[in-house]
Amino acid sequence: MTPSRVVIIGAGVAGTTAAFELRKQGFEGKVCLIGAEDHWPYNRTELSKNTGTPPNLLYSEEAFAEAEIEFRHGAMVRKIDRANKFVQLQTEDTIQYDRLLLATGARAAVPGVFRNLAVLRTRDDIDACFADLKSQDRLVIIGGGLIGTEIAATMVQRGFPVAIVEQQPRLLTRALPEEIAGRLQANLAEHGVDLHLGAKIASVDAQKVVIETGAEIQADRIILAIGARPDIDLAAGSGLSVDDGILVNDGLQTSDSAIYAAGDCCRFPAANGTMRLEAWQPAIDMGQLAARAMLGKTGSRRLLPSFWTDQLDLHVQSVGYADQDGKWLKRAGKSGSLIMFQLDGASRLQAAVGVGPGMSIGKDMRIAHHMITSEAVIDAADLESSKTSLKTLLKEASLCSTERH
Ligand SMILES: Cc1cc2nc3c(=O)[nH]c(=O)nc-3n(C[C@H](O)[C@H](O)[C@H](O)COP(=O)(O)OP(=O)(O)OC[C@H]3O[C@@H](n4cnc5c(N)ncnc54)[C@H](O)[C@@H]3O)c2cc1C
Repeated sequence: MTPSRVVIIGAGVAGTTAAFELRKQGFEGKVCLIGAEDHWPYNRTELSKNTGTPPNLLYSEEAFAEAEIEFRHGAMVRKIDRANKFVQLQTEDTIQYDRLLLATGARAAVPGVFRNLAVLRTRDDIDACFADLKSQDRLVIIGGGLIGTEIAATMVQRGFPVAIVEQQPRLLTRALPEEIAGRLQANLAEHGVDLHLGAKIASVDAQKVVIETGAEIQADRIILAIGARPDIDLAAGSGLSVDDGILVNDGLQTSDSAIYAAGDCCRFPAANGTMRLEAWQPAIDMGQLAARAMLGKTGSRRLLPSFWTDQLDLHVQSVGYADQDGKWLKRAGKSGSLIMFQLDGASRLQAAVGVGPGMSIGKDMRIAHHMITSEAVIDAADLESSKTSLKTLLKEASLCSTERH
């Protein structure tokens, strides 16, 4: 049955993309997008990159009006009545649905001991993190992951003294292979970021972070950036299956066939079990996939993890299913850039990560992306040698694959 009313909870990039994709797919029924934040949907990735200016909107108000998408902002859904197919807002308003998409995203992780610290997840967090900073105010960031290092890069560039406190022996342990993380780490250190690695925190107050060794790091502002947790309370409270994410099948359908989930909040099937991502492009991909699935248009499209980060003059891109303990092949590129690759057991490219100044890795990473999606079989030695371009390797692999078929 084609739905006539689609309700989307969460106006981040996954939910907003899904709303517009429904129209692109020709859906003429009612589309209602509900967002707890009191803003028009914006680009969350800019929060840590342009800390001095508000983020850009994903779509203008006019685009919403033109697409006839009803947008309720500052509206928190507090209950889903699955039996009668309606959602209830905090205001007690109810909205009926035929299909419901949960795109509730994630929240900054804040363990109890850190509960008074500022975090950077939403536009409303900007003030607590950056407002009223005077020049030479010392900024201490707890957590050396992607968001912590991005904030450090942006703020040191703006001239503030910045320190990062990270409990692991290096930065970006979860996100990037050691060699690429090492380049970002060295770059931050060269630009004056004070790095405290392998540093376990003993205590924190508004003015200082104390490390277990007894060392004290003085601060005028402390920002907590130790990761995020999927926002699954509403789903769990409604009896949907959850497990560190809202569990969905390949078509992003939850344990209730009328309800779908997309973006940071959802956990989907992957080769070795299930996977949850916290990244921009996959959230867009999932928003599009969910919209089509809600209209009964199923297509086989494998979700591909990918993310990027911009730090000072360096740009990093990652694509594919990297095996944390797998072997990396290295290829030197132009302007001192580096791309690392992982092959699976059948010599097909499964992951690539690159680092370089400006857009130096852009073209090669696009080709690596094609290599992964086309399941190209590539020779390890060819990947490491810069003699043959990646474009040529991809072309050769495609020819071989055509011959095999
Ligand atoms: C500072 C920062 C920098 C980032 N930089 C990068 C980057 O460089 N590259 C990259 O790939 N990724 C980056 N990311 C990650 C990326 O932004 C996220 O993966 C992406 O925004 C997830 O989109 P989403 O729509 O799934 O969830 P979200 O963007 O989290 O949106 C979910 C929305 O749902 C709302 N919501 C939740 N519950 C309810 C409810 N009950 N009722 C109504 N509304 C509700 C929330 O308020 C929120 O607005 C960054 C993230 C942050 C925070």
